[in-house]
Amino acid sequence: MATVNKKVLEQLRRTIRDYDFQYYVLDDPTVPDAEYDRLMRELLKIEATDASLVSSDSPSQRVAGQALGAFQQIKHERPMLSLGNVFNEEELDAFDERLRKRLGVDKALAYVGEPKLDGLAVSVLYENGQLIRAATRGDGQTGEDITENVRTIRSIPLCLQGDHFPRRLEVRGEVFISKAGFKQLNQQARAAGEKEFVNPRNAAAGSLRQLDPSITATRPLEVFFYALGIVSEDFIPQQHFSVLRYLQSWGLRVNPLIEELNGAAECYRYFQKMADKRERLDYEIDGIVYKINSIELQEELGYVARAPRWATAHKFPAEEELTQVREIEFQVGRTGAITPVARLQPVFVGGVTVSNATLHNMDEVRRKDVRAGDTVIVRRAGDVIPEVVKVILARRPDNSQSVQLPEVCPECASPLQQLEGLAVIRCSGGFTCPAQRKGALKHYASRKAMDIEGLGDKLIDQLVEQNLVSELDDLYRLQWQEIAELERMAEKSARNLVAAISKSRETQCARFIYALGIREVGEATALALAEHFQQELAALMQADLQQLLLIDDVGPVGAKNVVDYFALEKNKTVVLRLTKDIGIDWPQSETLMNPNEASLAGCTYVITGTLTAMSREEAAERLRMQGAKVSASVSAKTTGLIAGEKAGSKLQKAEKLGLPILSEADLLQLLN
Ligand code: NAD
Repeated sequence: MATVNKKVLEQLRRTIRDYDFQYYVLDDPTVPDAEYDRLMRELLKIEATDASLVSSDSPSQRVAGQALGAFQQIKHERPMLSLGNVFNEEELDAFDERLRKRLGVDKALAYVGEPKLDGLAVSVLYENGQLIRAATRGDGQTGEDITENVRTIRSIPLCLQGDHFPRRLEVRGEVFISKAGFKQLNQQARAAGEKEFVNPRNAAAGSLRQLDPSITATRPLEVFFYALGIVSEDFIPQQHFSVLRYLQSWGLRVNPLIEELNGAAECYRYFQKMADKRERLDYEIDGIVYKINSIELQEELGYVARAPRWATAHKFPAEEELTQVREIEFQVGRTGAITPVARLQPVFVGGVTVSNATLHNMDEVRRKDVRAGDTVIVRRAGDVIPEVVKVILARRPDNSQSVQLPEVCPECASPLQQLEGLAVIRCSGGFTCPAQRKGALKHYASRKAMDIEGLGDKLIDQLVEQNLVSELDDLYRLQWQEIAELERMAEKSARNLVAAISKSRETQCARFIYALGIREVGEATALALAEHFQQELAALMQADLQQLLLIDDVGPVGAKNVVDYFALEKNKTVVLRLTKDIGIDWPQSETLMNPNEASLAGCTYVITGTLTAMSREEAAERLRMQGAKVSASVSAKTTGLIAGEKAGSKLQKAEKLGLPILSEADLLQLLN
């Protein structure tokens, strides 16, 4: 048994060291953190079975990373350590229990909870208030001298504020790149044909460890400080939280979300609160750090090999995982756009099981060179659709083939078209392509369009596959007897569906325009068109480009698509059949004939958060009925922000701009 363990152990250590090298030295990790953390836990578990297995050079005993020879080296006067970690509430309780036992206390311990920033640790030394040196963590004992690079970061002061700071003060913090900064950096890299960074952490690490500080200066690096290193005797702090306050008073940036917490239960509540906030923060955090607040107790608890005993990191569930690509397929969307999609071995990531990830377009497939059989890192953060971050080339099967664009539409075999300068490739089949037909019908029936209850995706698939519906107007000619024959349908559900389709004859002009599915004509554009042409569809159908371009909320692409759409005889015929033969109509009484006479004419509102009395769409519609505009983003031109429960970044932005904030009650008053 012991021999098996040793072999496994050595292999495990080799793999971890290899990953450490990629991550810390090359700033180019080959596996997601979740995979690394799993291996590290496995190592700790094996080592825990027998103390004689623990060697001093084991990755479990040392801070990983190393100082590159290209930089001057700096020996840390106090080691820069890593952190232990917990992954769930039980492990957090066990951590707290361990500390209380060690300290011999029964009562709840006072902690400080801090967002765990996903960047790179730095040490910055001030003497007599002047920044004189900065270093990376390196292997914890020796770091790299990055003084000149750190001087280029605007949020790190070159001299401290006030005059009550200690003579010698080493502060430690995390240098990071915001999510927006990361996007921008990768866009620039792509445009310049350079290699992109995998995530903001690696972008920050790569940017800070540049041999040429003028390159670092161009990178959007920021900092939050969270700890003291060495400090002269003229400063004897009692509590960690008060240290953070002092740092702030000297002009050092401290994360505003840090809180004092009492006992493990409050720690866990703070963790949940931050997990909810995580997506809305404009920088990445990968967990929470809990630290014992009392410096005296911190000293009593001391350190284990690579981490303090008095702190731990509580990691959030992983947003990146490893999985395998089973195959790459091409999906045909409602407008004929051909999208490559990776069909994945199902994997639990970002809180859900993911089995598909979009690859957007062929440029992206080529850039990432994703192939069937590849092992890939998949990312799913918040509600964002899952994406393939990168391929693990070392695990690529020998016989893999690069992906080729199909020669014809995979659904209807029509030729494909690519417009010059655009990455999108389309099927030229139009409504003859079953995939486009299904997509168009699904859009037409959707809630924000004609809102046909009971006409779901599966049913539409069957209607198209059985040739019961070819054009939009065919929907209105369906007989309940035909529908009742379909899978999972019966007389009652079929009759209900026929009634629901029939009911959709009475609608609103903007909904109908939106329902036609003209490319780039979303709800806002459809509404602007309906209002501008005073709900007269015939006027819209005859409008030329110049006329359309004069309308607010209608961009040049949307305008051109409207003209192109109605230029096709086939489209005109369907629209006329729907409005004349089928009788789709909108009551003029509900419409706003002259928007300028309405009570809220000229006002623009943004709605955010959850409303209780009505949905956001309904609120928007009612505001529009009174002549207001409803916009998706807050700007100086916004008349007011309507903030429901759990309002987030829009509320912050509106407050910053000093805009009026309206509650739901204010909204109801406004509407009445
Ligand atoms: P860590 O990141 O788990 O925790 C320690 C670090 O947290 C500190 O050094 C500091 O930089 C940072 N930190 C952020 N906010 C902090 C705060 N408020 N207070 C204190 N510290 C804060 O430990 P580590 O040793 O730096 O790295 C190990 C982790 O790195 C692994 O768990 C893994 O997630 C990742 N890693 C990944 C790979 C890979 O191949 N994907 C390889 C090596 C390491």
